[in-house]
Amino acid sequence: MIRATTFAGKSVAVFGLGGSGTVAVRALLAGGATVAAWDDSEAGRAAAAKAGVPVVDLTSADWSQFSSLVLAPGVPLTHPEPHWTVKKAQAAGVEIIGDVEIFARERAANCPDAPFIAITGTNGKSTTTALVAHILRSAGKDVQMGGNIGVPVLELEPPAANRFHVIEMSSFQIDLTPALKPTVGVLLNITPDHIDRHGTVEHYAAVKERLITGAVVAAIGVEDEHCVAILQRRIASGPAIAFHAKRSLAPGYSMLKSEIVCANREGLGVKLGNLDGIATLRGAHNAQNALAAVAAVREGLSALGQSPDLDWQKALSSFGGLAHRMEDIGNLPASGGRVIFVNDSKATNADSTEKALLSFPRDVFWIVGGKPKDGGIEPLRNLFPRVVRAYLIGASSAEFAQTLDGDAAIIPCGTLDVAVARATADAVAYAQGQAMPLYNVEGSLGVATLLPGSVPHPSAARAAEPVVLLSPACASYDQFKNFEVRGEAFRALVSKLPGIVMRGSS
Ligand code: ADP
Repeated sequence: MIRATTFAGKSVAVFGLGGSGTVAVRALLAGGATVAAWDDSEAGRAAAAKAGVPVVDLTSADWSQFSSLVLAPGVPLTHPEPHWTVKKAQAAGVEIIGDVEIFARERAANCPDAPFIAITGTNGKSTTTALVAHILRSAGKDVQMGGNIGVPVLELEPPAANRFHVIEMSSFQIDLTPALKPTVGVLLNITPDHIDRHGTVEHYAAVKERLITGAVVAAIGVEDEHCVAILQRRIASGPAIAFHAKRSLAPGYSMLKSEIVCANREGLGVKLGNLDGIATLRGAHNAQNALAAVAAVREGLSALGQSPDLDWQKALSSFGGLAHRMEDIGNLPASGGRVIFVNDSKATNADSTEKALLSFPRDVFWIVGGKPKDGGIEPLRNLFPRVVRAYLIGASSAEFAQTLDGDAAIIPCGTLDVAVARATADAVAYAQGQAMPLYNVEGSLGVATLLPGSVPHPSAARAAEPVVLLSPACASYDQFKNFEVRGEAFRALVSKLPGIVMRGSS
């Protein structure tokens, strides 16, 4: 744990006693601060008090005694309206910060040159953060990874001369971190998101921009107009490097087919690794993430005066990926081919599922459904030709059956266990070039039943590697506690299939 020594002797209010709030309390107490902690939920307060947190009623406290308010990132700072603690802090002239600010001050006070890579973006933050940490670890570096991924930042080991802190940051966390000055700031992309919490996309983009403003080196993905404008502003003020997965850049990092290339101003490129065949980095979105990670590590090492020459190919090829995000969990050998199983349970909306379907040009046996979002799967219509059969689960079944009707074969399954069994049987037959089982789906919104007979193999070209893809495009709450539990249920069902070879097991 990191002791918040820069708060020694100060009185600090902490609001929001979830995971990171409770850790912040411990870090502040260990650093010598006096803490008054509170939460709107009575159960949260009781649990915190039990864990030794000093719970003080902030509704009636004298706010003039506090030097700072440490706010949990989930609590509204500006929109839809400032939380009551924010209003009280502002009225009393108390600064409002988050746990990453405590980390940044500790680093600035005790080890200002300690390697620190901060990563943000609308999409791909966790994948890129995990990949940066993996590349550094595979180069033998001492790495601490956390923030918006895994453990809260203050639970990590403290900054040290040769220790890399690789920290994922949401826009909410950036908003609470005025002194953020990473060695490398990585901004992946910006698309409208969290507008309820930021008011406008312009404000959201301005908050994201702050991550790179104080960075020694800024690495910026330039596939959207917000990031292009941010790069232009940054070039005028400090070192910046751009990356783009679909267009070659000079200078900058881009893809030459499946190869990561860094080109200098004259366009002369150095090849740094090939993504072809790396299952954990499939798809154009992951090309962007891989470019970001390679750029961050390479430019960071150079900025620190360390050798940027690593075995990039080895590091990229050995990336294990993240659970529930296009996670290759195993394969089932079928005579003459195999069926791949991919767990993309994290895909809770059509946008994320689009990335999954784009990663597989054809032969998809798609398990889809749950608690639907507005618009459902309509935005994916032009990708339906990639789907051989769609296995419908959950509350969205009737709606999705209507959307898919006429464009892809549907098999209503109700629950995930039925969907896995049917999709596997169908995909195995398909991989072997055989006819597939026939189901009674006519007019049925209940679970489809097997019929005698079969459906001829739909493709003239035999597909050797069909994929059974769980990418629900829906929230999980109708049938599961959360997307993690849904993904674990999928993994458990797949692991019981006779003959399955799970990834990572021999
Ligand atoms: P985040 O941490 O920003 O939520 P993740 O790395 O956890 O991002 O990826 C979540 C999902 O977002 C993935 O399953 C994929 O659908 C999509 N995604 C990942 N990287 C990108 C990217 N660079 N651009 C667009 N979408 C992406």
